[in-house]
Amino acid sequence: MYVVAITGGIGSGKTTIANQFAALGIEVVDADVIAREVVEPGTPALAAIAAHFGSDILDAGGELDRRALRERIFNHQEEKAWLNALLHPLIRQEMLRQCAAASSPYCLLVVPLLVENKLTGLADRVLVIDVDEETQIERTCRRDGVSRAQAEAILAAQASRAERLAAADDVLDNQSGTSETISARIFALHETYLAFASQQAP
Ligand code: ATP
Repeated sequence: MYVVAITGGIGSGKTTIANQFAALGIEVVDADVIAREVVEPGTPALAAIAAHFGSDILDAGGELDRRALRERIFNHQEEKAWLNALLHPLIRQEMLRQCAAASSPYCLLVVPLLVENKLTGLADRVLVIDVDEETQIERTCRRDGVSRAQAEAILAAQASRAERLAAADDVLDNQSGTSETISARIFALHETYLAFASQQAP
């Protein structure tokens, strides 16, 4: 399966753009969804987390209490490293499995932290959704109702725009032009990916 990874900073438009590829018939695999699936009740990963951190890491319904987990790993590098060593291979494996099972000509893999987690090697092609930082902040504040300072803090914890662009095979400008222009850019990329995927097919 030909895999196109799509990444971008907070509020850059990954979900919006991925939905447009989906409307063109492309299957979308989402790393954030998988990150939740691998710790659903009944999974070995959730059992390992409860054994490691104690059962008060679960809520009354037996689901992972994400806020409690965040607090337990915040400023505790060793605990964070333990959790990443458990979850990252599972997430990676499941992303590959879902991509391999896709039935569209190529598959779009949405990975917000592709650059931060050094996952570019998972994909045949890396598409970076690009907007400037001011636009990221404005769109995040408007969408999530967070303060400018909160949005800036999230941006600061992610890879920089330059780091992300350095990892890109393709860049989609999701800022300049009308929504029609942006859709035309998406369609042009889609045609390119269809061609690449058909060249790769046996
Ligand atoms: P996150 O990483 O935070 O999940 P994201 O990269 O998936 O964000 P979206 O949720 O797709 O980003 O977009 C962020 C906000 O910007 C949304 O409210 C969306 O409607 C808006 N948006 C996306 N693209 C555009 C655009 N071209 N013009 C104006 N607004 C846009």
